[in-house]
Amino acid sequence: MHSKDIAIIGAGPAGLIAAERLAQAGHRVTIHERMPSPARKFLLAGRGGLNLTHSEPLETFLPHYGAARDWLEPAVQVFPPQALRDWADGLGAESFIGTSGRVFPKAMKASPLLRACSKPAGAGPAGTTRAR
Ligand SMILES: Cc1cc2nc3c(=O)[nH]c(=O)nc-3n(C[C@H](O)[C@H](O)[C@H](O)COP(=O)(O)OP(=O)(O)OC[C@H]3O[C@@H](n4cnc5c(N)ncnc54)[C@H](O)[C@@H]3O)c2cc1C
Repeated sequence: MHSKDIAIIGAGPAGLIAAERLAQAGHRVTIHERMPSPARKFLLAGRGGLNLTHSEPLETFLPHYGAARDWLEPAVQVFPPQALRDWADGLGAESFIGTSGRVFPKAMKASPLLRACSKPAGAGPAGTTRAR
């Protein structure tokens, strides 16, 4: 595979996981974040416990997307709720199923998951802040 220089705009969870995957695939990745620090909204979300996903089977999970199901389903099928849990577990941020069926990190906050996915093994992505 030919290694590429890739710029990712925004160090939210979407940008961070994209950067992690691309760096693992051997590309040189730089994340540019306009704020002074990464993932601020994600950290705010963590204050409420951080609902990662839901434990229900895909046949009942997918209809919750309503009209958006058509375009979201292909992405959910390749990265279903269990794969998300496995990914978090692999980073050392184990999850549990609450009484509502929702899935939360055991730490009940986002910061351990953020620290883990910001420091992938090997040559991880580089980052700049206050950059648009
Ligand atoms: C109070 C609260 C509770 C929440 N609870 C949950 C929950 O329990 N479970 C859940 O799944 N979600 C929850 N969310 C939603 C969750 O935080 C978002 O869905 C998630 O952060 C979206 O991730 P993202 O990477 O797509 O975008 P963002 O988190 O918005 O990240 C985008 C990043 O890009 C940066 N950026 C934008 N434009 C530029 C630019 N031009 N140049 C450089 N950088 C730029 C932004 O500064 C930001 O850091 C909650 C949100 C809030 C506010």
